[in-house]
Amino acid sequence: MSECTHDCSSCSADCGSRDLRAPANSRSSIKRVIAVVSGKGGVGKSTVTASLAVAMAQRGHKVAVLDADITGPSIPTAFGIHERATGDDTALFPAVTPSGIKVMSLNLLTANETDPVIWRGPVIAGVVTQFWSDVVWGDVDYMFVDMPPGTGDVPLTVFQSLPVDGVIVVTSPQDLVSMIVTKAVKMAEMMNIPILGLVENYSYFKCPDCGGEHALFGESKVEQVAAGLGLKVLAKLPIDPALAAACDEGRVEEYQPNPMAGVAEALERL
Ligand code: ADP
Repeated sequence: MSECTHDCSSCSADCGSRDLRAPANSRSSIKRVIAVVSGKGGVGKSTVTASLAVAMAQRGHKVAVLDADITGPSIPTAFGIHERATGDDTALFPAVTPSGIKVMSLNLLTANETDPVIWRGPVIAGVVTQFWSDVVWGDVDYMFVDMPPGTGDVPLTVFQSLPVDGVIVVTSPQDLVSMIVTKAVKMAEMMNIPILGLVENYSYFKCPDCGGEHALFGESKVEQVAAGLGLKVLAKLPIDPALAAACDEGRVEEYQPNPMAGVAEALERL
């Protein structure tokens, strides 16, 4: 049988009984893999992923972030990583942030950070599996995978190829009223991957003058939606311009208080 190209559209093979897991790099030992997903882009998935990685590292764990959002990578920016990744004939080495978080992203491999990635889905999906198999991650307690939004080729490849232990779904209040988030949840369920819970971002705005919390997008429906889907609400994050500035300026590791500290603690107990 010819080697799998991950392009199921032109292949008649019956993969139902085949193990599609990609082999981990022989110099990697990764205990837990958590995928962070969203129904659509811009809901703050990368911000949540980066903050959660920092919170876990602050709790003393060895942490890595695999940036699977190949066409819209934000992780290097959040951590202020601008250098190129290094490698040898057989492997790639992740960049390491000041607090020791290992990061691999396509943005560390393109000639210029601003170069667009104009590749078809199966090629992009292949890069993600290479990030798993060809990167020397070393010892990692928690790897967070920043997924591209939606339910396309790459999420499918990650769920099939990587040993994902659980999924965190990031939503915005508007996202919740559409069916997009439910589709992302159902995809993980269909792939038999446990959903750890929902994080609602942009949940409210805390007024710096009066201290009041204002639901700019209307009263949150996250509890009802989560109950309907049988899921937990892990966190409700406010709109926080200072957090946005910290991520956009590469200072996510310095930002206090970490909005995902409580989720990191909860994750540790699972
Ligand atoms: P996604 O990964 O879902 O596309 P990002 O995490 O890249 O979204 O966030 C999109 C933009 O919104 C970024 O500029 C980010 O700094 C900003 N952002 C994310 N979460 C918040 C928040 N809670 N408050 C204010 N700005 C935020």
